[in-house]
Formats: sequence, C-alpha cells, structure tokens
Amino acid sequence: MAIRITEECINCGVCEPECPNGAIYKGGDEWRFSDKTNVKGTVLLKDGGTLDADAAQPTLSPSIYYIVPEKCTECTGFHDEPQCSLVCPVDCCIQDEERAESKEELILKKEMLHAG
Ligand code: SF4
Ligand code: SF4
Repeated sequence: MAIRITEECINCGVCEPECPNGAIYKGGDEWRFSDKTNVKGTVLLKDGGTLDADAAQPTLSPSIYYIVPEKCTECTGFHDEPQCSLVCPVDCCIQDEERAESKEELILKKEMLHAG
C-alpha cells in the first residue's frame, strides 16, 4: 500500500529527495507523473480515468508535504523499506490502510513508472 504523511509533518523536507519515484511534494506544489519517472503520454488510472504524464496536477495538500499515492511503491525495486518512513524525524510517514496493494501490484507500478 502507499505511504501517507500525517498532520504531524513539520515540513523539514528531508523525505522529498529520498523518494525514487518523485512521489513526495511540498504542500501547495503541483505534481506530475513525469517528475523523476519515465512516464510519458497518457496514463491510465486504476479508476479508469486518464492523465497526461506531463500535465501539472493540483496539490493534494495546501500546507504540509504530501505523497501522490499513484506514484508511491513503498520503494519497491529500489530499497527494502520505505525511505520516507526511514528518514522522517517525527515518524509521520505511515502506511495508508485505505490503499492496500499486493507486492505484485507494487512491482507492476514500479515497472510502469520506470519503463524504458
Ligand atoms: S515509500 Fe518510497 S516510493 Fe513511497 S513516497 Fe516514500 S520514498 Fe517515495
Ligand atoms: S521528513 Fe517527515 S516531517 Fe519532514 S517533510 Fe517529510 S514527512 Fe514532513
């Protein structure tokens, strides 16, 4: 499952450069599928919708750092454990229980983000 950042976040920014998928953004910033990934063109979402990989998407948090669930793989294929959880000084990067994903799904997601 994806990792999420709780309201305990102190906006230190330590987690952001550690993410291999560019899934972590500063509060208020827009996000893109193509940031730090090889994703190009049209992205098919789990809910059947689509997004342009290079198009800026609205922020998911106005004030604290946030993780884009569609880009979080729990660091699968890069590290043995979620790097954001490892480095966060206040332990506010936690499992998002509402977004359960199997290991196989996480591997497919990693391959989608870094194909080519
Ligand atoms: S668990 Fe890994 S992939 Fe997910 S947001 Fe944290 S650093 Fe990025
Ligand atoms: S490391 Fe933790 S406290 Fe710092 S910005 Fe990331 S989530 Fe927030």
